[in-house]
Amino acid sequence: MDPSSFLPQGHYRQMGVVLNSRVSGERGKNVFLFLREYGPLWATVPGAAAGKSRLSGVSEPLVWGYFTLYRSPRRMYVKEVEVQEDFWALRRSGAKLSMALSLCRHVSRFSLPEHPQDELLPLLYWSMKALEGGTDPHATEFRFLFRWGSLLGVSPQLDRCASCGKRAEEGLLTAEGLTCAACFGNGPRQGGLSLEEMELNRLRKAVMLSGKDFRTELFGTDEDRLFRRASALLARILEGSV
Ligand SMILES: [Zn+2]
Repeated sequence: MDPSSFLPQGHYRQMGVVLNSRVSGERGKNVFLFLREYGPLWATVPGAAAGKSRLSGVSEPLVWGYFTLYRSPRRMYVKEVEVQEDFWALRRSGAKLSMALSLCRHVSRFSLPEHPQDELLPLLYWSMKALEGGTDPHATEFRFLFRWGSLLGVSPQLDRCASCGKRAEEGLLTAEGLTCAACFGNGPRQGGLSLEEMELNRLRKAVMLSGKDFRTELFGTDEDRLFRRASALLARILEGSV
């Protein structure tokens, strides 16, 4: 675990979220925060593992708020947390909680510490809102990864063939993009997602709907496999972009 290393000594206050939290020593915690302007960074919360600490509940994953930090010559400390949203309702459902934590892990894995990604913060927040509201977790994960990839310019186009540029209603989706049936011919289909028209339409819908329409769209559990496979592909693309 690398203590934060780039920011100069001093006090900081910024909005963000706890992505991860680990007990450190007998009573403390180390938290991985994702902050506006600073990006992801580790910080120590002294005493937070003790039940009576006022920082104990607010240093858990999925807590959003304003974090007051102090950077000493050796490490970053959390001094105060002004909670804006604790996603209490989301924590009470196993499936929703598990996916929200997966989204946090994606951010931890595919981001460089102390590199701001201010456009990703609202995307993460609204994905958690969608989960909390009951939108299908796998569709939410795919939308989150795809839109993140779009911010970075690495997500594939879902409406055009990457080879011939023509509109594609079906095709093979790989890290290199979508390949239409005409360009692909009868070649081997390993290492990508072979998508029929209806499946491609569902993926498009999941990423193109407005946030409001997405949260009310019904995605069936029979579509979970499609979204899981598409998310795995997006995760590989994001991994390659770090
Ligand atoms: Zn083509």
